[in-house]
Amino acid sequence: MQTPGLPRRLLRAILRDEDNVNLIDSTPLAFMHLAALVGLFLVPFAWAALAVAAILYVVRVFALTAGYHRYFSHRAFRTSRAFQFLLAFVGGTSAQLGPLWWAAHHRHHHRFADTEQDIHSPAWRGLFWSHLGWLLCRKYSRTELDLVPDLAKFPELRFLDRWHALPPLMLLVSLFGLGEWAATARPGWGLTGGNLVVYGFFLSTVLVYHATFCINSLTHVIGRRRFATADESRNSLLLALITMGEGWHNNHHRYPVATRQGFYWWEIDLTYGILRALSWVGLVWDLRPVPAKIYEEARQAAPGQEAEPADAGPVTLPLGSAPESA
Ligand SMILES: [Zn+2]
Ligand SMILES: [Zn+2]
Repeated sequence: MQTPGLPRRLLRAILRDEDNVNLIDSTPLAFMHLAALVGLFLVPFAWAALAVAAILYVVRVFALTAGYHRYFSHRAFRTSRAFQFLLAFVGGTSAQLGPLWWAAHHRHHHRFADTEQDIHSPAWRGLFWSHLGWLLCRKYSRTELDLVPDLAKFPELRFLDRWHALPPLMLLVSLFGLGEWAATARPGWGLTGGNLVVYGFFLSTVLVYHATFCINSLTHVIGRRRFATADESRNSLLLALITMGEGWHNNHHRYPVATRQGFYWWEIDLTYGILRALSWVGLVWDLRPVPAKIYEEARQAAPGQEAEPADAGPVTLPLGSAPESA
């Protein structure tokens, strides 16, 4: 499909198009990028600040892939109400709006993947739109509660969805406080309130943004297709490494409710590895396996490839009550 060039799409985004993309709705995302970029020139560098940025990247990408995506959007495993809240809160610090908004839009994506109704299909509206453009648009900022009735019944999740700015602000303030404390208590670390906020919050959050946005854009463009799904989803090791396992997107579109997205041991899926470890200590349970028929389908798609037995990981006793029963 013919799409307009990038300058024209940018201009359209900055001004206003039929989807109400406009300057006001674009401001928060633009500000985050600007603060990260300009901030790096204004604050002193410290390895400790970079380490905090890296840790917060890993922790928050995990909260988004395991929490916002596999748990809230697809119910791929079960957990306690407390851990469910923790996943929602930590995911919320990534400033990607609330868990209900996120899950509702993602369920919509699976329902209409790469059709004209898909909000962020690179096939229909180009790479820029699918990566970032649609997020600059008021039309898609509402939470469609009818798509997430199973999540909307929890008042604490509705609270996080309504006050979605709270978790990122709490993280920002905490990082500033920690940096200021370290500046006097641990001067050798080189930390200040300023550099911890720039690296730990702005830089880390922008990197988490693009890791997440890649799933909507590049995973429908780059990589190989194992399953002949009705969409353009693809499998890519590179994207799986950046996004802690979400790059096996063709697998995921073929069987979205499986906990694992890398269907074989060599398809590195760090999020699944962590979830398995969490299941051993009882924090999560009922990890949904990939059925044998899907492995058989994969084997037929690539003759000679050994089928991996369906594996849900060990089933453990829950520490808390299942949210469904709460
Ligand atoms: Zn997709
Ligand atoms: Zn999904």
